[in-house]
Amino acid sequence: MKFGGTSVQDAEAFARVADIVGAQKDISPVVVTSAMAKVTDALLAAFDIAKKGDAEAALSSLQPHFDRHLDVSRKLTDEIRQRSFAAELELARQDLTDLLIRVSRRSISLALLKDAVVSFGEQLSSRLLTDVFIARGLNAHRVDSRNLILTDDEFGAATPIWDETERQIQLDLGPMIEAGEIPVMGGFLAGNRNGDTTVLGRGGSDYSAALVGAALRAREIQIWTDVTGVLTTDPRICPDARTLPELSYEEAAELAYFGAKVLHPKTIQPAVDHTIPIRVCNSHEPDEVGTMIRATSDITANRIKSIAYKKNITVLRITSARMLGSYGFMSRLFQIFERHRTVIDVISTSEVSLALTIDNAHSLDQVVRDLESLGQVEVEPNSAVVCVVGEGLRESYGLASRVFSTIEDVNISLISHGASSVNLTFVVKEEELADVVRRLHAAFFSNKEE
Ligand code: ADP
Ligand code: ASP
Ligand code: MG
Repeated sequence: MKFGGTSVQDAEAFARVADIVGAQKDISPVVVTSAMAKVTDALLAAFDIAKKGDAEAALSSLQPHFDRHLDVSRKLTDEIRQRSFAAELELARQDLTDLLIRVSRRSISLALLKDAVVSFGEQLSSRLLTDVFIARGLNAHRVDSRNLILTDDEFGAATPIWDETERQIQLDLGPMIEAGEIPVMGGFLAGNRNGDTTVLGRGGSDYSAALVGAALRAREIQIWTDVTGVLTTDPRICPDARTLPELSYEEAAELAYFGAKVLHPKTIQPAVDHTIPIRVCNSHEPDEVGTMIRATSDITANRIKSIAYKKNITVLRITSARMLGSYGFMSRLFQIFERHRTVIDVISTSEVSLALTIDNAHSLDQVVRDLESLGQVEVEPNSAVVCVVGEGLRESYGLASRVFSTIEDVNISLISHGASSVNLTFVVKEEELADVVRRLHAAFFSNKEE
């Protein structure tokens, strides 16, 4: 059972989580929690302040968040636990002070310090949640995720080393579950072989939960968030978006890859590997059913189940007559992206030209400079990827025409279709994105046809 930031944003939310977990205590839950809402952002902001040299200002910017933790402890736990939590918090604060001073002096690798700083959100929330559970009569036991999830050294977005992670989770959590205890751990944070703290990337608590669920061959991985399941699109763009009762792994993965924030994109694979269903539910409305994600799902009459999008995309176009009839061209091109550690999302090619999208423009200048040795390069920033997802989409007739005729006055700068059987992806200007998503949503979902 994984609880996201808004599911643990204040005392009321912590109490709700205790009720939700309590209701399932007889079926051996393991609890993975995110940091309290806004805490990860605050820690990252503190890191940036410290980087500019002011460790003291960095620490004081965190004080309101320390107070939020103390407030939950005061409202929901007894005096002894309040005291022990306050002592724990004081220790965390000293550790953070030390780390932020080192950041301001740039004494060791900033990437390493950053993960250590940002992990405190989950370290504290998991400690606090365990206290709240115990105060409410649950047999909870806090575990340190850094000893369970072993990763490589890619700070900021580390990759788990699966065999060891799996073994460690089974060894540590198995006996606790046998003994009727409820393990409680922070999501997002992990550890490398040197014992340094690493993190799995923003939104990575979902992934932590999937890793634990897979290692334990859980009956189900539950993702508890602030919306009722996976919806027909992002409710922040279309408030009338509706809950999808079920999705296939493939559909959910495509949605997550293309920006549906409700699931971290790496969450699906561990579940697929062991055929474990993922349920997405709303911790604010625990009785609502939510979305079930499993190996297969029905094709709906609509075909399209959901619309995802990703902003801040840059399109690169490379044109080169040398591509014509030559081999090895793509390989040289991809090596450039590999050299600059830049991920390509969508790609479309013709005989002598190629268009692709990247969402991380940090080494754009170097990439473009190197690409120019292969051909002529055009850069189109401020773009957005729209991804329409549904089982059976590739085999269906007339669907692409329906999608594009709905937005016929919008310039589409790249289309990709057919590689995956469940998605149709295209690129528009970022300023037109919200309008495009709303119009497609209205066309495909307004009359409740499913
Ligand atoms: P948590 O903190 O619980 O991990 P997130 O903020 O990471 O929650 O993810 C939930 C949010 O994802 C929702 O509040 C919603 O705004 C956004 N979202 C984007 N696309 C979708 C979608 N298709 N279905 C549901 N939520 C979506
Ligand atoms: N707290 C982390 C973040 O905000 C991880 C998560 O919530 O999933 O990115
Ligand atoms: Mg999330």
